[in-house]
Amino acid sequence: MVSESRYGSMEYVRCGRSGLKLPRISLGLWHNFGGVDSYENCRTMALEAFDLGVTHFDLANNYGPPPGSAESTFGRILKQDLGSYRDELVISTKAGYLMWPGPYGEWGSRKYLIASLDQSLKRMGLEYVDIFYSHRPDPETPLEETMGALDQIVRNGKAIYAGISSYKPDETRRAAHILRTLGTPCLIHQPIYNMFNRWVEEGLLQTLQEEGIGCIVFSPLAQGLLTDRYLQGIPPDSRAGKPHGFLRPSAITEEKLAKVRRLNGIALRRAQSLAQMAIAWVLRQPTVTSALIGASNVHQLQDSVNALKSPSFSKRELEEIEGVLRG
Ligand code: NDP
Repeated sequence: MVSESRYGSMEYVRCGRSGLKLPRISLGLWHNFGGVDSYENCRTMALEAFDLGVTHFDLANNYGPPPGSAESTFGRILKQDLGSYRDELVISTKAGYLMWPGPYGEWGSRKYLIASLDQSLKRMGLEYVDIFYSHRPDPETPLEETMGALDQIVRNGKAIYAGISSYKPDETRRAAHILRTLGTPCLIHQPIYNMFNRWVEEGLLQTLQEEGIGCIVFSPLAQGLLTDRYLQGIPPDSRAGKPHGFLRPSAITEEKLAKVRRLNGIALRRAQSLAQMAIAWVLRQPTVTSALIGASNVHQLQDSVNALKSPSFSKRELEEIEGVLRG
């Protein structure tokens, strides 16, 4: 049973200059939804997210482990619970990173993108996804071919919108131009953005604003670093503590932790968790449509979604945060 009040508190905003609205917080299935994870925990998180108004779920062909298993898990949740709400969901997937051996299993050829999406649809038991992304720019395949594949996929009804991820500002402009010419405008860009990784501030946000492309930022919590998770060491059940996590313990340096402690102090003064402040901080950018979070349990998910109740940042708070980040 899904909650009757699921649309009571989430905010939805327009994605760039499109007709599609996205929730301010979306849930990604990169970690904690694989074949190695507890299915019941995955299911509980997905259902709780939907009850909280999180209508957007983000996947990719390779999410797991093993690769592909996050899509299979999500397919199972759709079959068991959420399938009848398909029209209330925005489901995305991507292709770009290594998925199968040989020359056609990664990057940006038409051959790979089309085959990969067909596999993703099978794993999820879907006829179409809402957004299909080129997961990363391919330095060797002509951009016209990669964008042509996205256009073809949309025209064939296998995706409703096209997106790109991790493209630099100049690549984004060229991709947007090609897609516009083909008649399938670029809906959205998915870059990393958090207090420790601010590359989007150096041109990309401006480009997206000018092109009318929406922006969903991934890893707003720096994979958990920008939370209280590592303040007392590396817990064995954390991303850095698990053998297959993408966050390596070596990334949790004393220098980073010193900043996290100071940021945590600012968050406490604002009467919120550091996770909430980190999410509110990325959402303060007017060009950012949605913060794409991850979670390993339902409490984290609830805590993070409560970031929407954050007080707005005072000039002084922003300066203080800036001081910590630059210090
Ligand atoms: P986050 O930065 O939100 O990190 C999520 C992790 O932070 C969780 O797994 C958990 O760690 C910890 N956490 C989450 N909420 C809280 C909380 N409230 N309090 C304490 N700890 C918390 O995002 P992800 O790195 O998971 O990325 C999110 C999504 O972005 C992915 O699922 C994927 O959809 C997308 N993505 C896209 C990429 C691309 O190339 N386009 C690349 C990477 C991600 P723990 O597990 O240790 O409990």
